[in-house]
Amino acid sequence: MKTARRNFIKGLCFSAGSLLTKGCANALEHEGESGAPGPAYARLEARGDLVERIAQAYKKLEKCDLCPHRCGANRLDGEKGFCSAPGRAVVYSHSPHFGEELPLVGRGGSGTIFFSNCNLRCVFCQNWPIAHLGRGREVDDESLADMMLNLQRRGCHNINLVTPTHVMPHILSAMRIALKKGLNLPLCYNTGGYETVENIRLLDGIVDIYLPDLKFMGREESARYVVQGVGDYPEMAQQAIVEMHRQVGELVVDDRGIARRGLMVRHLVMPNHVAGTREFVDWVARNLSRDTYVNIMPQYRVEHMAFDYEEIARAITSREYVEAMEWAKKAGLRNLDKRSLSHLEIHRRRAS
Ligand code: SF4
Repeated sequence: MKTARRNFIKGLCFSAGSLLTKGCANALEHEGESGAPGPAYARLEARGDLVERIAQAYKKLEKCDLCPHRCGANRLDGEKGFCSAPGRAVVYSHSPHFGEELPLVGRGGSGTIFFSNCNLRCVFCQNWPIAHLGRGREVDDESLADMMLNLQRRGCHNINLVTPTHVMPHILSAMRIALKKGLNLPLCYNTGGYETVENIRLLDGIVDIYLPDLKFMGREESARYVVQGVGDYPEMAQQAIVEMHRQVGELVVDDRGIARRGLMVRHLVMPNHVAGTREFVDWVARNLSRDTYVNIMPQYRVEHMAFDYEEIARAITSREYVEAMEWAKKAGLRNLDKRSLSHLEIHRRRAS
């Protein structure tokens, strides 16, 4: 199997008219853990296409349209848009994380890099000092690459890029630097979902695992619970998720249950069902697949500005969570997150 894959990559390199470049050599070395195929970006590098992709992404920073806000700020010249992100990436932390979905965590943890600032900024944000206030440290792409390699050395199973949209060019550039130094982990694009399809297309063949939120299904709610109102969130997020699904399909795990590739969708149940959970599960069943990995999360808590919104200034009830999960089952979703199924049993007992 490994030999066939090596021959395939060699074929690609020679059919592109090149000798075996360093990128190709790296891709050949990059058989993943347990002999699974290496990460998507190593194959793109082997084809010689990664450099051009990074150039296209960086160009966007001159008149920023990395997300649907399309602010037009020249971030390379110090201008800032809605997200307040500067020209370089700002990182709050990088460490193995054991609280993510089980296929991302395994034994070694998910290698999370928390980026500061955010292009969405929900009023109930649980990471508001990082996302709203931008706490963190500016880093260049070489330092970001070192963080990725550090997470790999510490035994993480993936590089989990938290809130990546506004720093996507820096991530691609850093990932290529790290690739040349031996990075071979899958990239996990962990986004709030406010994306353009155009941006997601730039990631085709680079990202292995997409982990988007689909936070709201209604325009009114998305305008109300996002700073400065983003009424087009449902439409933008849904289009982007359909494109993610087209690129990577259903979740694929290795023989240890560790995620290698695919789409995992998150949805947070909110008080009074303001997130539109019933519509969410129906949408997934109709527009993606009933086998889509879906995590319906119960951990809403009142944070930051949410105290000012009476209808969301409380935790969810057990009954609300049970209803949400029953809607998911009724919609035919058959790849629900295991922890969410455990939460269902706990909340069912509490609700009865
Ligand atoms: S990434 Fe930031 S600056 Fe760029 S379009 Fe989005 S909000 Fe505006």
